[in-house]
Amino acid sequence: MLVRADHLKASDNPAFVSLLDQLHLREASLSDEQRLLLKYLDAWQLDYRGDYSAARASLTAIIREAPDATLRFRATATLVNVLGAVHRDEDAFVQLNQLIEQLPGITERELRWQGLGEIAQLLTAAGQYDLGTSYAKQMLDLVPPGETACKASYFIEHARYSSGQLSKGDPQAEAAIDACAQAGESVFANALRADMASVQIKAGHPTEAAALLEKHYPSVRHDQYLITILRFDALLAQAYLAMGQSSRARTYALAAVQASTPGEFTDPLRMACKTLYQIDQQRGDFKSALGWHRRYMEADKGYLDDVSAKALAFQIVKQQVQAKKLQVDALDKQNKILQLKQALDRKAVEASRLYIAILALGLLAIGLWLLRLKRSQLRFMRMAQCDSLTGIYNRKHFMNESEYSLRYAQRTARGACLVLIDLDHFKLINDTHGHATGDQVLRRAVAACQEFMRSTDVFGRLGGEEFGVLLPECGLDSGIERAEAIRRGIARLSEQADPGIPVSASFGVACTGESGYDLRQLLVDADQALYRAKRAGRNCVVAGKQGEGVVVA
Ligand code: GH3
Ligand code: MG
Ligand code: MG
Repeated sequence: MLVRADHLKASDNPAFVSLLDQLHLREASLSDEQRLLLKYLDAWQLDYRGDYSAARASLTAIIREAPDATLRFRATATLVNVLGAVHRDEDAFVQLNQLIEQLPGITERELRWQGLGEIAQLLTAAGQYDLGTSYAKQMLDLVPPGETACKASYFIEHARYSSGQLSKGDPQAEAAIDACAQAGESVFANALRADMASVQIKAGHPTEAAALLEKHYPSVRHDQYLITILRFDALLAQAYLAMGQSSRARTYALAAVQASTPGEFTDPLRMACKTLYQIDQQRGDFKSALGWHRRYMEADKGYLDDVSAKALAFQIVKQQVQAKKLQVDALDKQNKILQLKQALDRKAVEASRLYIAILALGLLAIGLWLLRLKRSQLRFMRMAQCDSLTGIYNRKHFMNESEYSLRYAQRTARGACLVLIDLDHFKLINDTHGHATGDQVLRRAVAACQEFMRSTDVFGRLGGEEFGVLLPECGLDSGIERAEAIRRGIARLSEQADPGIPVSASFGVACTGESGYDLRQLLVDADQALYRAKRAGRNCVVAGKQGEGVVVA
């Protein structure tokens, strides 16, 4: 039953689930090994359903407990997938590294194939095209029975596309598309067709691109694979705009925007917003064009943040691994020196002295190398976690740290408050005094806030001129009080550091006593309070949920 369930996972998921239920009924009769396999299948299903945090916990436990290298490998591969899905990029690369280390011990063809696929995919997503391709090429040598070379060729061709190496009508890519189509792997064939269409549009052949996309549009819809649907819609919109058919272009672009998952910034979403902006601009509807341009900028930044976060995570983990290898190497050299010294006491051979000197030099070199590595590691960490203009946490790191802090507060049954800060009429400062002065004001405002921070507060820049502070060990009254102190600190900038430039900020406060410990709920409530602070005339603190607000001016 376990083997059957394992085979049915993806091809007949409902049947798989009912087999899991039956297996759980006879769990008592299973051996330890069988029980771990069942646990793995449960975790696989959690991943499939999108219950990532439960899947992650369970897979981590399996990797720790499983005596069997095969199961550990499978669990690690699935965990890489889960971590990628929830954008825990650094953790994903740490696990990927484990996967690469386990690879030589894996002899089963199907497993190696699966592992190599995960490795190629994540490396390509992090912009490591050559490395990703080298793993995909290894897949070509061990296509397991029942599989075809399609998936491997897809990784190779998609990496070529991503690194700008694909040209219009590229024979190798066309061959990969044909191979995938013949193998019935339409998901991969269509993904490559989207790559081809994108190349055609860039080369000034939108009509060809539109024809290709329209021809395979029904098959994409049938596959229900979201990211390819979005890409087809966004590319069709681009192609039709280039052909001068703006109403068709608009329909497809709107479809891409509507089908996008809220809060997820993808490449197709930014393309679609840009197309809509261009259409409205051509029509002379500047108000609507401005709205789409804003969304385009937001999606563009979100998408690039995501891409660079992956690339940075790769560098960070690569350096950690290098550092660890060097440390092991250094230990090894130290051991050798000790051994030789002991031998020297006995024999006192001149040549050994020389050897020791060489080893010691080697050790010194490793030490210096490690120091350099540590420094650049710290630099990459800062880049990944901090905002480059102000040096405080960026949005992503602020969210992670705040969630961590909130979980601790909940466990220890203590209150916490979230304060959102938005500078008032900041656009006016930019317009009147220039962008450089605007930047300066942002830095000074941050410095003013920092004077009121405690070491346990989490402080980050959430976007343009918007900041967040999470105050642990804090109730509504003291939250308002502390926000009020920060407000006065910022307002004082007008008199002191920036004479002539009026600087102030509005504050929204939400606390766990009223909103609970969910960060998203706290953000929603604080944002509503902030909105009311703006409505109430700015330069003030508003707290509490709608209707029960307290305004402090
Ligand atoms: P309100 O009081 O309603 O918040 O008005 P506002 O002008 O502050 O709000 P709005 O959101 O319209 O404008 C924010 C401005 O912040 C627009 C944008 O140009 C500017 N901005 C965003 N990021 C930066 C930055 O990094 N540097 C500078 N100088 N300006 C920025
Ligand atoms: Mg704002
Ligand atoms: Mg503002």
